[in-house]
Amino acid sequence: MSLAAPLRLGAHMSIAGGVSQALDRAASVGSNAVQVFTKNNRQWQGPPVDLADVERWRTTMPEQRIEYAASHASYLINLASPRDDLWEKSLAAQQDELQRACAYQIEHVVLHPGAHTGSGAEAGIARIAAALNRIHAATPDCGRTLTLLELMAGQGSTLGSSFGELRRIVERVEERSRVGICLDTCHAFAAGYDLRSEAGYLAMLEELDRELGLEALKCWHFNDSKGGLGSRLDRHTHIGEGEIGLEGFARILNDARWAGIAMLLETPKEEDLLDDVRNLRQLCALVDDPARIPAGLWFTAEEGLPNEFCA
Ligand SMILES: [Zn+2]
Ligand SMILES: [Zn+2]
Repeated sequence: MSLAAPLRLGAHMSIAGGVSQALDRAASVGSNAVQVFTKNNRQWQGPPVDLADVERWRTTMPEQRIEYAASHASYLINLASPRDDLWEKSLAAQQDELQRACAYQIEHVVLHPGAHTGSGAEAGIARIAAALNRIHAATPDCGRTLTLLELMAGQGSTLGSSFGELRRIVERVEERSRVGICLDTCHAFAAGYDLRSEAGYLAMLEELDRELGLEALKCWHFNDSKGGLGSRLDRHTHIGEGEIGLEGFARILNDARWAGIAMLLETPKEEDLLDDVRNLRQLCALVDDPARIPAGLWFTAEEGLPNEFCA
């Protein structure tokens, strides 16, 4: 008998043809979780929310057995900016991201905390928290869509590359229940958390628990790292083909404390999604208890043949 809950495994999926199309793509690779952009992530503004697509999302999610969805905010947003015009623009864009996700009843919006671009960590942290407080005050009806501050690799003046720094943001947020943490394995490794070893993993969790509490972690991004430990390089690669390696991912997958917490790939891929299939199979092969593998991953995406890795 399986004691731990089934895994929630998936990948970031394209929204070409409509946001809800990502659910079909997620199901086509056998996954039961997904991450999306709710609009073009390289533009400040998107079109109005497509209510017909929201309706399609609501019916498609159970039909395709997708149990979890997160959205990822635009990469343009910088809530830590010392420049007032950029900060206001970022604030408006992040509020729009939250409202879009809220319209789709998406649980979590993953956000890069921001970069202080020379003003210093303390000033940047204060700016981020002030922006989140204003966004929360303006969106009282979106309390069920949490903003997840993503742990960053620490390139340049990027903030949030340690749990301590994320805690300094979170503790200034007035509505604490509306924020959580997203842990990207590539970023963590590049930031200096050694996920290769048991000792490194446990030390990371001890620090997370001390600074924020383990329950603050609401979502994993599963990416292997091209950059070395502490390199501060944000370069994602396929599971098992980077510096973290398979053992590091096996440790997280089989840790029952993450039952129900989604693990989402952001690894390189083509339109055919075969790289996702390969990475998902690779992860399945690392799971000790087969009963925890999502049902869709017992079969290949293309032909419904028993999955050679998972069966
Ligand atoms: Zn991210
Ligand atoms: Zn990254």
